[in-house]
Amino acid sequence: MSIPFIRQFEFEYGTCISLSPLIDRVIANNPGPFTYTGTGVYIIGDKDVAVIDPGPALPEHRAALDKALEGRRVTHVLMTHHHIDHSPLAIPLARDHGCKVYGYGLQIRPPEGGEVRLEAGDDLSFKPDVEIRCGDVIQGDGWTIDAIHTPGHTSNHMCFGLREENTLFSGDHIMGWSTSVVSPPDGHMGDYLDSLERIKARKFGRIWPTHGPCIDDVDEFVGAYIDHRIARETQIMGALDDGLSDIMDIVAKLYADVDRRLHPAAAHSVLSHLIHMRETGRVTADGKDGLKTAYAPAA
Ligand SMILES: [Zn+2]
Repeated sequence: MSIPFIRQFEFEYGTCISLSPLIDRVIANNPGPFTYTGTGVYIIGDKDVAVIDPGPALPEHRAALDKALEGRRVTHVLMTHHHIDHSPLAIPLARDHGCKVYGYGLQIRPPEGGEVRLEAGDDLSFKPDVEIRCGDVIQGDGWTIDAIHTPGHTSNHMCFGLREENTLFSGDHIMGWSTSVVSPPDGHMGDYLDSLERIKARKFGRIWPTHGPCIDDVDEFVGAYIDHRIARETQIMGALDDGLSDIMDIVAKLYADVDRRLHPAAAHSVLSHLIHMRETGRVTADGKDGLKTAYAPAA
């Protein structure tokens, strides 16, 4: 089953637009292979607002955000995770408005030496003022937000549900334009699948990811997102059953029609699946999990 990606997206950089009675958005001009058209910053509320993921510390983006916030007061800065396209402006914005930054906190397992960089990069200085946990409720003037811990893309990833509109801000956990990067050791496929199931069960009416357009057919889309990962594990198991054990050989078989320059990134995705398959007893390995480890079907 293929994922019904949504890539049609009309927007203008730096312009604040209203998406719903409680939600405005400004998009930063930082397009790229991990950010699609750039970072979408969500402003929740009317006069006293929350800002979700203020984004990169680019002067023109900061100016656009200041313009969008003219005559308003930021009472909460909420963070989905610590990647550099999301968090650098969090502390400066919060300090200027005299409010606090809310997030899960930094607990990342840094990549081991020589690993391929698959994401926009870590903001290792990221430190929320208030560490929040799954189930915490954050309340402001006319809005109520449920904090939902969704590890997988990163171990500290949070999604935020806006109760008044039954809408989810999904950060990089679920994106309309692409699958999410799940790269070990901080990314974890078992956690990721579990997080997807928990979001699906909550029956949100709409999802706004940080990058790209909204997702309206939430149940169908998240279902396809999960099915895509399960189908990939079936393919990997098939390759192991055929006698392949080396990750790069599995990648060459499964990604034969994909540009070879993307194979190192694909190898990380296959590794994250193999770790999950090993943890669930379907696969064995000849040593510590890693790109050079040989894998085999469990007897
Ligand atoms: Zn990210």
